[in-house]
Amino acid sequence: MLLKEIKDIFHTELGAIYPKEEIDSFFYSCIEHYLNLERFILAIQPGYTLNKDEEQPLFEALSELKLEKPLQYILGTAHFMDLELRVDENVLIPRPETEELVQWILLDAERPPARRVGSRMVIERSRNDHSLRILDIGTGSGCIAIALAKHLPDAKIYALDVSEGALSVAKENAASNGVDVTFLHQDILNPEINLEFDVIVSNPPYVRELEKNEIQRNVKDFEPDTALFVSDEDPLLFYRAILGFAENHLSENGKLYFEINQYLAEETKALFNTRNFSEIELRKDMFGNYRMLKAIMQ
Ligand code: GLN
Repeated sequence: MLLKEIKDIFHTELGAIYPKEEIDSFFYSCIEHYLNLERFILAIQPGYTLNKDEEQPLFEALSELKLEKPLQYILGTAHFMDLELRVDENVLIPRPETEELVQWILLDAERPPARRVGSRMVIERSRNDHSLRILDIGTGSGCIAIALAKHLPDAKIYALDVSEGALSVAKENAASNGVDVTFLHQDILNPEINLEFDVIVSNPPYVRELEKNEIQRNVKDFEPDTALFVSDEDPLLFYRAILGFAENHLSENGKLYFEINQYLAEETKALFNTRNFSEIELRKDMFGNYRMLKAIMQ
């Protein structure tokens, strides 16, 4: 069959569910992934033809796309910053907002704060006294931990998750990206960890049941509930637990970074009021939603 005909079938079959540009993007990602064909193939060879064996994976992907399965789960890969990661239904597909959280941590780590000593500004070099120890709580695919490990080669990175399925994906991703991360199988609601960290980061579940109707079917039906949802009655459960953990496991001046629910920014910030943290800062993501919070341990 002509490659062009298959592209038309993608549009006919998916046109009711997805916008045109997204269908083009699905089609080109599939031919790249399964057939190693460049995106411009149809421009230079409009008569490019596939045999039955070559067609088959494209039609299989199409039938899964019709069920609104996310393309990343169909292909088994996702991109996060400069990383290629394996993903399956045990882990959330990494989001661009989470890349912004990692960028914040990297900028802070690369630019240690200047402090005034007498009349001089002195750059604090404490992070060079020992390598920065970083913990990622609820690592999922490992995206945050692996990106930090890659960009901060001197840091010692730990990552935990309650899900063994997620940990096995994350371990595979650390290996395929050539970084060293220590993975811990732990429940942050009941942690057993005797280590101290300079940075703790987490993107815990934060979507309330009442927000479910805002969420697209491809997320709701395919991504892991345990990574996404919290009850309407206690939506900040994980933030409270991580704050308590951080108070006992962060070094002095250690930093805590969270991805947060945009509707609960003030409530999340207020959790810190009675605690030993300073410089509590909220930041918006590229979509203009409050999505990140940073605090420093006193
Ligand atoms: N940002 C994710 C979403 O859009 C939610 C991530 C999370 O709950 N930690 O669904």
